[in-house]
Amino acid sequence: MKSFPANALEFQEAFGTEEKCEAYLAKLRWPHGFVCPNCGHDDSYTASTRNLFQCTVCLKQTSITAGTLFHGTHLPLTCWFWIIYQVAQDKGGASCRKLASQLNRPVKTIWHVLHKVRYAMGRRDEGITLAGFIEIDEAILGPEARRPAKEEEVEEVASPVKKSQMPRQLKLGRKPKGGKKRKTQVEVIVLVEAERFHAGNVVLRAVERTTYESVKETVELRVDPCQVFKGDKKQAHYAVRSLGHTFVGKKSNPDTACIDLPVVHRVISLLKHFLMGTYYGVSKKYLPGYMAEFCFRFIRREKERSLSESLLRACVFALPLTYDELK
Ligand SMILES: [Zn+2]
Repeated sequence: MKSFPANALEFQEAFGTEEKCEAYLAKLRWPHGFVCPNCGHDDSYTASTRNLFQCTVCLKQTSITAGTLFHGTHLPLTCWFWIIYQVAQDKGGASCRKLASQLNRPVKTIWHVLHKVRYAMGRRDEGITLAGFIEIDEAILGPEARRPAKEEEVEEVASPVKKSQMPRQLKLGRKPKGGKKRKTQVEVIVLVEAERFHAGNVVLRAVERTTYESVKETVELRVDPCQVFKGDKKQAHYAVRSLGHTFVGKKSNPDTACIDLPVVHRVISLLKHFLMGTYYGVSKKYLPGYMAEFCFRFIRREKERSLSESLLRACVFALPLTYDELK
């Protein structure tokens, strides 16, 4: 199979028409030829519409996009492919308004597509589990302590929702010293493979509060058995050891935390930079989607050339998502 285009010119050449996109999609979906999703038979007629395959045994018609993220879309595949290509190309994340203007489509349509793409990224990586030496910590995403309430609301540039209907936006800050977390702040459990100061796979999970239970649940779900953890919080210590892992580390003071847990702090700092850099703060509701995008990029940061193809693959193998599920 031909590799994904490496620049805009090649892209235009490879995916300039619906037929070319459909052919690429079919190859990606059925590398060894069509397989009927209904009965598993591998022979088909091409029905009158070019993107429909009809099984020769059960006669069920299957479209190339059925059962993928593109299922039932009104947007041409040429636009989808361009959006996926742009998302993969732009390290900081693609701008919704810019894409809408390039494709001459409503901002709202592109906004939905981008959220679907982020969902596909999350689905692609949800099976990844961590192993080896793992640093664990929590990040606080939310309005800075002592900031006047008025300044806490930042409009997400890409959102098509009216300002009055918009959920509260999050800036990125710290928990007030000695105080409780604010309602608008979100805690994120961060796990990173950290062999010899080099970051490997990463897991982020937004939680109401970082507790023994929430850490235990995250570790149980996303870490292989019997690994070694380093952290500085007692919840992490107890939760990790209760699952049979080894825990090293002690309570560190805020001034030396970056030295004690260098890799996880680097990841948290990159995450905050990513969220603020492109999206000017993110609403609490959509935060998991943006975190999925961050993880998808971070895990593949050394394979930039194949990022577009990985993302397209993620979209093909993600289950369809309706607009209602996105609301
Ligand atoms: Zn069939």
